[in-house]
Amino acid sequence: MTRKNVHISQETEGYDAIVVGSGISGGWAAKELTEKGLKTLLLERGRPVEHSTDYITEHKAPWELNMRGRYNRANAEANYAVQKRTGQFRAEAEHWFINDKENPYIEDKPFTWIRGNHVGGRSLMWGRHCYRWSDIDFEANLKDGNGVDWPIRYADIAPWYDYVEKFAGISGEKLGLPQLPDGQFQPGMPLNVVEKHLREQIIKNFPERILTIGRVAILTEALPGRAACHYCGPCIRGCSTGSYFSSQSSTLPAAVATGNLTLRPYSIVQQVIYDETRDKATGVRIVDSETNEVLEFKAKVVFLCASALGSTQILLNSKSNRFADGLANSSGELGHNLMDHHFKVGANAMVDGFDDRYYYGNRPTGFYVPRFRNINSETRRQDYVRGYGYQGSARRENWGRGNDMRGFGAELKQQLREPGDWRIGMTAFGECLPRHGNYVRLDDAVTDKWGMPALRINAAWGANEFAMRRDMAQSAAEMLDAAGYRDVSTYDSYTEGGLGAEVGLGIHEMGTARMGRDPKTSVLNEWNQAHDVPNLYVTDGACMTSSGCQNPSITYMALTARAVDHAVSEMKKGNIS
Ligand SMILES: Cc1cc2nc3c(=O)[nH]c(=O)nc-3n(C[C@H](O)[C@H](O)[C@H](O)COP(=O)(O)OP(=O)(O)OC[C@H]3O[C@@H](n4cnc5c(N)ncnc54)[C@H](O)[C@@H]3O)c2cc1C
Ligand code: SF4
Repeated sequence: MTRKNVHISQETEGYDAIVVGSGISGGWAAKELTEKGLKTLLLERGRPVEHSTDYITEHKAPWELNMRGRYNRANAEANYAVQKRTGQFRAEAEHWFINDKENPYIEDKPFTWIRGNHVGGRSLMWGRHCYRWSDIDFEANLKDGNGVDWPIRYADIAPWYDYVEKFAGISGEKLGLPQLPDGQFQPGMPLNVVEKHLREQIIKNFPERILTIGRVAILTEALPGRAACHYCGPCIRGCSTGSYFSSQSSTLPAAVATGNLTLRPYSIVQQVIYDETRDKATGVRIVDSETNEVLEFKAKVVFLCASALGSTQILLNSKSNRFADGLANSSGELGHNLMDHHFKVGANAMVDGFDDRYYYGNRPTGFYVPRFRNINSETRRQDYVRGYGYQGSARRENWGRGNDMRGFGAELKQQLREPGDWRIGMTAFGECLPRHGNYVRLDDAVTDKWGMPALRINAAWGANEFAMRRDMAQSAAEMLDAAGYRDVSTYDSYTEGGLGAEVGLGIHEMGTARMGRDPKTSVLNEWNQAHDVPNLYVTDGACMTSSGCQNPSITYMALTARAVDHAVSEMKKGNIS
């Protein structure tokens, strides 16, 4: 769709702040800005989603779902060709995933970009694992010379982790590990009997390792307006009790309660408007996806929270005389240093015994084995730098195993009424190094339905990640072996040049507008503020200077709250107006 000579409608009345994107980062930005008294416009490209009433498949039995929960293959192939690459794309949650046909991008190398474009973003889809970073992560680039040095250390962000954890509600166990700092935790969920057994065996055989319950943004104790989890299971359908953290359950209600929030869905931000004479961002230009109208909104400060690649796409598309290659891009680093976590590698086993033991409900988390490599001189590896952690679980096979069983009639039915064998599996999430050569750029020849140039993505794993993957599989198997489990087997889903464990599939895409000390080599400073444009902040995954191996969203939350605090204090001092 071309937009030549389009009429641009301008809102004369400005806001104090504009936030772009209503997912995990944008929800926090909106909450913090409005609670600090700023009239805030929250622009979201997708449709509205009301807490509870719009969770259309929540608590439905398989037989109440269309096609018993299987997705329509022809529709998936035509409209969700990328989204269906993840096992999370199922009929019960299809309505959360972006339509790939309407929102194209180009894969120079395989890159799976999983998106949820609606109010709440991927806060309605995420796995909710939350792990703090430590100074081992913040100092890594400086120590091993990859990427640039982070401009912050753990002490800068620790109080903000405390702050967001208390509000979001994180359940987990304190361990006192230097590589995985403890936080403000509610009681952790229980490990089941086999997981407890594996934990004991790991402590006995590998003193530098530990297994714990996953730390998740799911309540085990009620918070105001939110109930403790009742273990119903398929969280991706939505959670009416607000037991898990989402924009809908947590940050947006808080922002609305201030009376300072204006939420505008169907608003695709295409550019940040930069005024060269005043050397500042003055607002944003959007396309209303329902009317196709182009509109401009003004504000004193702009927060980009459109997800790592979403925010970078907007900046690359915001060109001016001064910033011909994208706004705030005097360093030339905008779009570069794209990272993700590499995973889909680990080990599985069968567990004998424990036949008289079961567990309660559908616990919505598994176990976690924190990083144990390259922590200190004893754990130093010669073949790679950085590290990885494992996520996994032990479960008893259910009646679904009947698909592969011989037999029929009453006897088969009776067999399937009994719980099956115990299985255990663990998959590793590994750190990816920041590399200038892993990048995104705009391709003007391909546009989406609303005229926005598409991203062209060029990223691949390197030698460090491949060396780490070998260790990820072997170390998982040696722990399961040492525990005495049966049929231990390793797996690695990576295929060269193909799909299986490609970049993006970890759904932790980050980097592309990194923080750094030097404006010549980074886009953002230590406050997530653009070096070049002080009233512009980027607080989603785009800001990340390295990737750690921990699930990143709790770090985005903490950085966002910290950045808002900085912006508001700068406004009070008159440095942003
Ligand atoms: C299945 C799944 C499991 C995951 N599990 C975990 C986990 O266990 N732990 C973890 O830490 N992370 C997990 N993640 C990743 C996590 O969801 C993201 O890190 C997080 O949502 C990022 O927050 P965000 O606000 O930057 O982006 P999002 O939550 O994606 O929100 C971005 C918002 O911006 C909007 N937007 C984009 N472009 C524009 C535009 N041009 N104009 C206006 N609005 C725009 C989008 O519609 C969206 O609502 C998971 C993700 C998925 C999908
Ligand atoms: S398992 Fe818990 S967090 Fe998940 S949807 Fe059910 S109540 Fe909510």
